[in-house]
Amino acid sequence: MAQGDLELNAAALTHAYLLLAQPEAGYAAAMRLAQTMLCAAPEAAQRPCGTCPHCRKAAKGIHPDIITVARLSDDKGRPKREIYVDQIRALVTDAVVLPNEAERKVYIIRDADTMNAAAQNALLKLLEEPPRFVSIVLVAASPAPLLETVRSRCVTLYTFGENAAPPAEARERAERFLDYAATGAKISLLSFTNECADLGNAEMTDFVTAAQLMLTDMLCGRLPDLRMSHRRMAALLALLRTAQEYLRFNVSTKHVLGLLAVDAANGE
Ligand SMILES: [Zn+2]
Repeated sequence: MAQGDLELNAAALTHAYLLLAQPEAGYAAAMRLAQTMLCAAPEAAQRPCGTCPHCRKAAKGIHPDIITVARLSDDKGRPKREIYVDQIRALVTDAVVLPNEAERKVYIIRDADTMNAAAQNALLKLLEEPPRFVSIVLVAASPAPLLETVRSRCVTLYTFGENAAPPAEARERAERFLDYAATGAKISLLSFTNECADLGNAEMTDFVTAAQLMLTDMLCGRLPDLRMSHRRMAALLALLRTAQEYLRFNVSTKHVLGLLAVDAANGE
């Protein structure tokens, strides 16, 4: 993929996230992400502040601009098997209406992997061109049931969930990489990539996974922010996702490092 394409995609994708996690943990993370997006704190690094009116309402689950779509219940109170197209049509219609109180509104789709094909197709147009004040977070245990057209329009986020955290070494590397990427420190990035040139595929994959997890945590307001904009974090996530794909297809570590270094050095 040409670098320009990647940036273009990432920029266009900031409004749609696919959060891969177990249902309960994933929903909690999506709520934190929504809170971060609506928080009124002036500095990005302070969000979510926990004290502004938006944070308080979000934490109580009563913010009118955080809208959750979930499977309906049957008459015995059990969740139905699918999210239906009518539910998504209602969401799409609601999405053109301005937010009630916040600057933006966030739609969280729980168990998004249970949307049937018609429902996913109904969502596509909104994922492509959401109104500027709309963000959409799909929470899914697995990306497999989602159409490629849906997946490709979302920035994928991970949570640790039931997987083991990456090794400490990988996390330390990820921290340094994100730190350099945040400031666009070209020389540091260069020496960092030189240092990593001898890593094997497994170690490199651990590092890339750790960086994705860290960015997800930052987006969800669980780690101190590195003073990166939301858009920048989303762009880096898209970049790391590409790196992960390359590694899966055994592209050489050096090639992947080159991709990471060049794009990360470009900064905002
Ligand atoms: Zn706040």
